[in-house]
Amino acid sequence: MKIAIFPGSFDPITNGHLDIINKAIKLFDLVIISVAHNIEKGEPLFSIDERKSFILKSTSFIPNIKVDTFDGLMVNHAKKNKAIAAIRGLRALSDFEFEFKMALMNHSLEEDISTIFLLPKAKYTHVSSSMVKQVASLGGSVKEYVPEHVNIALVKKFTNG
Ligand code: ADP
Repeated sequence: MKIAIFPGSFDPITNGHLDIINKAIKLFDLVIISVAHNIEKGEPLFSIDERKSFILKSTSFIPNIKVDTFDGLMVNHAKKNKAIAAIRGLRALSDFEFEFKMALMNHSLEEDISTIFLLPKAKYTHVSSSMVKQVASLGGSVKEYVPEHVNIALVKKFTNG
């Protein structure tokens, strides 16, 4: 059984993430979507439980998926779950340098876990959770880029403060 983890902040999950997940399940028997507790980008907009429940709702119809959370090193979490790979999405060249360094560091920490980069459909290359939050906070529509329940949660969050 080939297992991969897909680690990230998912604050919140977007259609770009879902595109990567749909590609990843064709390559692995099980994909574990792993929501990181610690976010380098600062305070998350949504709690870990909200982020996890948005993912569960968006992926309920996708087979061979598990959703969990993790703290600490991604490679330790991958190893604990018997994963052989970590999936990362590459949107543009701007993602490359950071992802390249991170993949090398993870490889040196844990040789048995490979980082696999997947490209999203062109229409999602400019989509990120941060962009979606920024646009939604200014009252713009992001319904094309996130699942419907996430859009509703974003509107609610920025309307009610
Ligand atoms: P992190 O905080 O680890 O970057 P994110 O939730 O922002 O977590 O992203 C998790 C993974 O999903 C990353 O590999 C990121 O590059 C990828 N990703 C995010 N948005 C997209 C997108 N629109 N297309 C492809 N990959 C994406």
